[in-house]
Amino acid sequence: MMAANPLIHGPSTPAELLLADVHVLDPRAGIDVRHDVLVRDGYIAELAEPGGIDGPEGIETVHGQGRHLLPAFFDPHVHLRTPGQEHKEDLETGTRAAAAGGFGAVIAMPNTEPVIDSAPLLRSLRDSAAREARVPVGFLAAITRGLEGEELTEMAELREGGALGFTDDGLPVRSAGTLRKALQYQRLCGGVISLHEEDPTLSRGGSIREGAVSAALGIGGIPTVSESTMVARDAALAGYERARVHFQHLSCAASVQAVTHAKATGVSVSAEVTPHHLLLSEEDVRGMDTRMKMNPPLPSEEDRQALVAGLREGAIDCVATDHAPHAREEKEVPFEQAPMGTTGLETAFAALYTGLVLTGELPLALRVERMTAGAALFDLPTPRIAPGEPANLTLIDLDAEWIAGEHGWESRSDNCCFAGRRLRGRVLLTVAAGAVVYRERAFSVVAA
Ligand SMILES: [Zn+2]
Ligand SMILES: [Zn+2]
Repeated sequence: MMAANPLIHGPSTPAELLLADVHVLDPRAGIDVRHDVLVRDGYIAELAEPGGIDGPEGIETVHGQGRHLLPAFFDPHVHLRTPGQEHKEDLETGTRAAAAGGFGAVIAMPNTEPVIDSAPLLRSLRDSAAREARVPVGFLAAITRGLEGEELTEMAELREGGALGFTDDGLPVRSAGTLRKALQYQRLCGGVISLHEEDPTLSRGGSIREGAVSAALGIGGIPTVSESTMVARDAALAGYERARVHFQHLSCAASVQAVTHAKATGVSVSAEVTPHHLLLSEEDVRGMDTRMKMNPPLPSEEDRQALVAGLREGAIDCVATDHAPHAREEKEVPFEQAPMGTTGLETAFAALYTGLVLTGELPLALRVERMTAGAALFDLPTPRIAPGEPANLTLIDLDAEWIAGEHGWESRSDNCCFAGRRLRGRVLLTVAAGAVVYRERAFSVVAA
């Protein structure tokens, strides 16, 4: 059904690179060992034991010294703010942030200005990406016109124009009848339907999670049932229509249970969770820092632990950043007036490595799997480190410590909830779709 290539990137030069003595970790390929990796013309040409490959003449050698080489990450949920809000982010800065975070591809949300709800708008956005995007970007189109929740978009036409799927992210699809109709069209035109789950009659007016902290601060709270009842409703609809839905940014135990139940009964659902919901809690909101204000809000500690368990055990399929840039002046207002969202592309790996892998809560290999699993959910090839595969790689120094944001950001916005934290794990080099898209400034490479 889909005519156009769903992932678009700007002009690039195929990499010619010898990655010497790197610790290759690709759980799907079953590799966890030191290797030399030769990249030629943007493809992985050869893997051999360290010292086993003589760099061909004129090819740059990167001396890995045992640092980890992973498949580049895949983020199924980012906001690149183009068109219309380029003061927050654009295709160039957003994909530069992705590259700096070790991501080899991202999927952008359609809640822009205007909303991506027609084929001509999608076409012009994809044309921009073909000029500006540093890493491949896929686009979701809106489920309903203008995200108004009423009239469906021309889903078949949008699919033919390259939409990977559909979402009204930022908002829920309030009407079950409207979502049911969208699921019926999905059967005809394919594409994933991604859902931001929230019942506005329950979340109304809330800025943070309803609970002890919202009571203590006197800030309106969003109850967990605002999300979990909608997850349960939409899983039931997906089951009834034999459709396929993806739940965005789960934030509570009850939602994890609803997804677990749906999967157990054979419904085709998948789910994502963000680094901030895995690592932070409502306690982090006490300082009223607006960078801690996001939708869904930061969870209780109990819910946070359920999200970690859900990711580990597979109820939650993948990690997504929900990278949501906002300009400083927009965030520097009283807490309740501030827009919701945090950036996350540049800190995702290090924050999770520091907060979950080093603490023993999530094995590194599983965590790599969960940071690349989003691709298959959107019917895209999963990056693999194997001969013949296109090079989608990220080289990481697991021992490097850095303070998030200390040297600024690649993103145009700096509303990162992890800013100022000491993190372990630094992305040194990213190769996406066969091209070198990022090099860490201080990381020296030696030419052959
Ligand atoms: Zn959302
Ligand atoms: Zn979002």
